Amino acid sequence: MPDPTGFLRHERRTPARRPVPVRLSDWREVYLDAGEHLIREQAGRCMDCGVPFCHQACPLGNRIPDWNELVRTSAWAEAADALHATNNFPEFTGRLCPAPCESACVLAIPGGPGAVTIKQVELEIINRGFAAGLTPSGPAPYTGRRVAVIGSGPAGLAAAQQLVRAGHAVTVFERDDALGGLVRYGIPDFKLEKRWIDGRLEQLGAEGVQFRTGVNVGVGMSVAELRTGFDAVLLATGALAARDVPNAPGRELAGIQLAMTHLVAANRAVAGLQAAADCPDVSAEGKHVVIIGGGDTAADCLGVAHRQRAASVVQLDLYPTPPGERDESRDPWPTWPWLLRTYPAHEEGGERRFAVTVQSFLADGRGAVRAVRIANATVSHVNGARVMAPHAGTERELAADLVLLAIGFEGTEPGPLLDGFGLTRNARGTLDCGPDWQTTVPGVFVAGDAHRGASLVVWAIAEGRSAAAAIDAYLGSTTRLPAPVTPTDRPLTAA
Ligand SMILES: Cc1cc2nc3c(=O)[nH]c(=O)nc-3n(C[C@H](O)[C@H](O)[C@H](O)COP(=O)(O)OP(=O)(O)OC[C@H]3O[C@@H](n4cnc5c(N)ncnc54)[C@H](O)[C@@H]3O)c2cc1C
Ligand code: SF4
Repeated sequence: MPDPTGFLRHERRTPARRPVPVRLSDWREVYLDAGEHLIREQAGRCMDCGVPFCHQACPLGNRIPDWNELVRTSAWAEAADALHATNNFPEFTGRLCPAPCESACVLAIPGGPGAVTIKQVELEIINRGFAAGLTPSGPAPYTGRRVAVIGSGPAGLAAAQQLVRAGHAVTVFERDDALGGLVRYGIPDFKLEKRWIDGRLEQLGAEGVQFRTGVNVGVGMSVAELRTGFDAVLLATGALAARDVPNAPGRELAGIQLAMTHLVAANRAVAGLQAAADCPDVSAEGKHVVIIGGGDTAADCLGVAHRQRAASVVQLDLYPTPPGERDESRDPWPTWPWLLRTYPAHEEGGERRFAVTVQSFLADGRGAVRAVRIANATVSHVNGARVMAPHAGTERELAADLVLLAIGFEGTEPGPLLDGFGLTRNARGTLDCGPDWQTTVPGVFVAGDAHRGASLVVWAIAEGRSAAAAIDAYLGSTTRLPAPVTPTDRPLTAA
């Protein structure tokens, strides 16, 4: 029986972060271990309110009050089982998820005492699960059916684990030299150290998932080959087509690059790997860095630039400064609010400027960028299209010798893989599917960012699980794997 008064006795507290100068001297994760006392106290703030809106807000439908109570009573192994019942990779979500569940917690009602620290409880459960050792599930009776998963991000890996546990033979194809998708080569170690991916991959391997890295399906392996070898295919290829500004004056100058190019190079360097041919290692050391964009990718570039010892870093956002607290008239509880989100990278330094647009990149006379020309701007939306109105007379220059474009993604990449299947991208650059996650090509399914567009790890896992359930049914199985979301589900927002 949960403690109905825990939240009255204990205020919301999150674990400490390592001091900024210390964490800038390495690439390790920012948060210190929470400690048993803090996490049990915080789990005890959950009153099991009876109508857990947190379930609804979590795309995985994590059974949050159940594991809060198990943690409060020190039943750590049972808590890990309850967590794994809905989430293949809590070690990813516990570190990376923006926690829409917490915005929907009853304790987060405006004027209330503040949400349960759900994400931290989740993280502590799985940290203990790793320390105890992840037990592979025993082999399921083999169905004789073979599934190819293209892409090893969280969507592909979640689907692979679900399908192998249902008795299918699963092979994951990944064009990179290592598995994990954006979690491996996009997200820096200070948010998620790669040992967590490796530890989970050991479990998937022990359960029978086959991995083939360095295979660019559609190029190094033909679609025809794939179709003859497998009964079903899941496209979990992400939304990696980066948005660029090819027509911006000065875009061709040296020193201007896509954020992902920079992040991949930085992640490879931290892993002790050679730079990839398409992602040259350009350090920010001693440079004036301008990051264009306001999302996760931009914040990751900021943290990387500081660790590379940039001389200065300015992050530019087109939109106005969001409010510091939930605006009830716009985003009533329990929806996900538009808020000024301050990540650990922001407390490490740098400057954020809002409501500014970049007009051009200025040359140093030797073919490299020396500054960006910016102006204040107002953004509006007309018939769904974004319209920018620069304010006359506010134009100015900002010194820059490294400019990182973190302005979003334009869907899954076009190319031989999609051409081979005869699939075309929709207007958003993603792949459409029916209610059973099947594309217009029979036996070919889609999940994760390739379907949803650039999103979140929690959605990728949820879609991977749901697509696995659909593939399992398509292959004639009666396993009835869980399917937490449908292809048309959307985050809990007021918009
Ligand atoms: C810099 C950055 C930071 C982020 N930070 C966060 C965060 O803090 N929290 C959060 O929740 N989300 C974050 N995200 C978003 C999150 O990483 C993605 O939503 C998630 O990884 C999508 O998973 P996915 O499996 O659909 O695709 P991906 O992770 O993109 O994986 C797709 C994989 O498919 C492979 N592939 C593509 N085509 C082929 C082919 N033809 N053959 C073989 N392999 C192929 C790719 O190489 C890639 O490995 C971030 C994203 C970025 C870019
Ligand atoms: S996965 Fe994200 S939304 Fe779900 S419980 Fe964990 S932190 Fe909350």
